[in-house]
Amino acid sequence: ENSRPLNFIEQIITDDLESGKTQRVVTRFPPEPNGYLHIGHAKSICLNFGLAQRFGGECNLRFDDTNPAKEDQEYIDSIRRDVEWLGFKIGEPASPNVFFASSYFDKLYDWAITLIKEGKAYVCGLSPDEAREYRGTLTAPGKNSPFRDRSVEENLTEFEKMRDGVYDEGACVLRAKIDMAAGNINLRDPILYRIRKQSHHQTGDKWCIYPTYDYAHGQEDAIEGVTHSICTLEFADHRPLYDWLIENLPVPSQPTQYEFARLELNYTVTSKRKLKQLVDENYVDAWDDPRMPTISGMRRRGYSAASLRNFCELIGVTKSASTVDVGMLEYAVRDDLNANAPRAMCVLSPLKIVITNFAEQTAESSLMVTQPMHPNKPEMGERKIPFTSEIYIDRADFTEDTTLSRKKFKRLVSGEYVRLRGASVIKAESVEKDENGEIVTVNCTLVPDTIGSNPPEGIKPRGVIHWVSAQNCVDCEVRLYDRLFNDEAPDAGGKNFLDCINPDSLVIVSGAKAEASLSSAEIGTAYQFEREGYFTLDSRYSTDGKFVFNRTIGLKDNWAN
Ligand code: ATP
Ligand code: MG
Ligand code: MG
Repeated sequence: ENSRPLNFIEQIITDDLESGKTQRVVTRFPPEPNGYLHIGHAKSICLNFGLAQRFGGECNLRFDDTNPAKEDQEYIDSIRRDVEWLGFKIGEPASPNVFFASSYFDKLYDWAITLIKEGKAYVCGLSPDEAREYRGTLTAPGKNSPFRDRSVEENLTEFEKMRDGVYDEGACVLRAKIDMAAGNINLRDPILYRIRKQSHHQTGDKWCIYPTYDYAHGQEDAIEGVTHSICTLEFADHRPLYDWLIENLPVPSQPTQYEFARLELNYTVTSKRKLKQLVDENYVDAWDDPRMPTISGMRRRGYSAASLRNFCELIGVTKSASTVDVGMLEYAVRDDLNANAPRAMCVLSPLKIVITNFAEQTAESSLMVTQPMHPNKPEMGERKIPFTSEIYIDRADFTEDTTLSRKKFKRLVSGEYVRLRGASVIKAESVEKDENGEIVTVNCTLVPDTIGSNPPEGIKPRGVIHWVSAQNCVDCEVRLYDRLFNDEAPDAGGKNFLDCINPDSLVIVSGAKAEASLSSAEIGTAYQFEREGYFTLDSRYSTDGKFVFNRTIGLKDNWAN
C-alpha cells in the first residue's frame, strides 16, 4: 500500500509535516445522520481514517447534526456500526474521537454574537423569495438587503428574539455581512442561522435556531483541531467563506479545506435522498437490502470490509470527477472472496440421483468423504461430507442428449461417466420420468474405488460436478441478486432513476439443497458454493432454523454476456 505514489492529499500532508505547518494530522469524517452510509461514504471514511493511520494522527467521527428535521438516532447507530465494521476504531460514545456538531451549539451561538458585535452579521427579514431576488445571479451582482445596516444593538436584540422563539420559521435569518457584489455567490451575505421549530435528537428543545452547514463546518473543524478538512468538489466554491469565517472568528486552530472528487459508480445511485426513497417506497426491503449500495447492504450481501477498503485504495483519490465502473467494485469483492471464502457445495435446482450399487460396492450405507475448506489454504482445514446412495445434482448438470460433444458438455450424460467432486465416478444408467415427461430420478452406478483415485483405463469422466447427499443435507432458500438498475446512469440526464430499476434484480430460489456442514454456517461468513458463486447467510431472513443464502456475487464477471 505504501509503495504506490502519494495521492495529492498525502502529498500536501507530507509537505505540511515537513514544513512544520502541521505537527500532527487530524482529519474528520462528518456524516449528517439523515440516512445510512453508502459506498461513496466508504471512500471518504477510508480516505480520512486512512490518512490518520498513515501519518500517525487521528480521525474524528463527527455527526454533522445541524438540521434536526431529517435526522434520527437510528442513523447515528447505523453510522457508528458501519464505520467500525469497515475496520476503523472509533471507541465508545464518550471517547474523544466521536463528536456531535450539536455539542458546539453554545460556542457557535457565542461566535455569532461576536460577529454581530463587530458589525459582521445581521438579522435579515427578507422572505426567501425576496432574498433570492436580492442575491443576484452568476452574471449580475446582488443588492444589499434593507436590513443590512441595522445597528449592532438592534441585531443583538433581534438575534436574541430569534433564539427565544419569538419569530416563526422563515421569518428571519442571521446573515454574514460580506459582499453582495462578490463574484462568488457564497460570499453574498450567506445565511448563518435559520429558525427551525424542531426538537433535536441530542439537544431536545433547547434550540429553535440552527446553524447552517457553511457557518458550522469550519468552526467545528477548528474546535476539534482538525488540520486537513477534506470534502468533495462541490464545496470548492464554499472555501472562501470557510476561510472568511476562520479569519473573522476567535477560533482555537486554523484548519484548511481541501476538495477531492466524489465517488460516482455506474449502474448505481449514491444519494441518501434517493436511497431513502427506494426504502420508503418499498422498492427494496430496507436500507440494508443486499441490492443497496449502502455499507450495511453490502455487508448483508456478503461483501467483506477488506474488499471495500481494497476497492477504495484501487480507485484512488483525485481532483477530477469521473465515474467508476461498478465492475471494479465487483472485482475487488470477488478477488477477496476467492482468496478467503471457505468452499462448500449447494445444489440450487436439485435432481435426484440414485446410486443403485452403492451398498454393494462400498460395503456401507453411507460414507464420509473429506474436502479441503479451501483448495490453496490447507491451514483452513477440512470438512467432512456424507456420501450416500441418494444424492442431488443440479438439473443443468444432466442431459439425455448423447450428441453433445465432450468439450461442450462436461457434465453427466446418459450412458456416460462424470466425477462427483471429492467422491466417486458415476455412470448414468437410466432415467425415471413423471407424467409430464420431466426427469425425476437418474439411476446411476458408481465405479468402485474411485474416491481420490482415477478410474480404470477406458472410463473417461466428462467432468467434475458438485452434489449433496439427499439423506443428509440442509434445505435452504437462495436469493440471487443482479444489479438494482439496468441503466448505466440511472441518475443522469433528466431520467427518473425509479424507471431504471431492474425488474430481475432479485430471484428467489426455494428448495435448494446444501451440504450438511452448512448447518453450522454463520452470519458474516461468506462461502464459495462450488461452480455457483459466493454466498452468505442472510442476516434478516435466516431465523429459527431457516437457511436463506444471499448470492454475494458470481464466480466470473459475466455481466457482459
Ligand atoms: P449524499 O449526497 O449521499 O446525501 P452527503 O455528502 O450529503 O451525501 P454527508 O453525510 O454530508 O452526506 O457525507 C459525509 C461525508 O461523506 C462528507 O464529507 C462527504 O463529502 C462524503 N461523501 C458523501 N458522498 C460521497 C461520495 N459519493 N464520494 C466521496 N465522499 C462522499
Ligand atoms: Mg452533506
Ligand atoms: Mg446530500
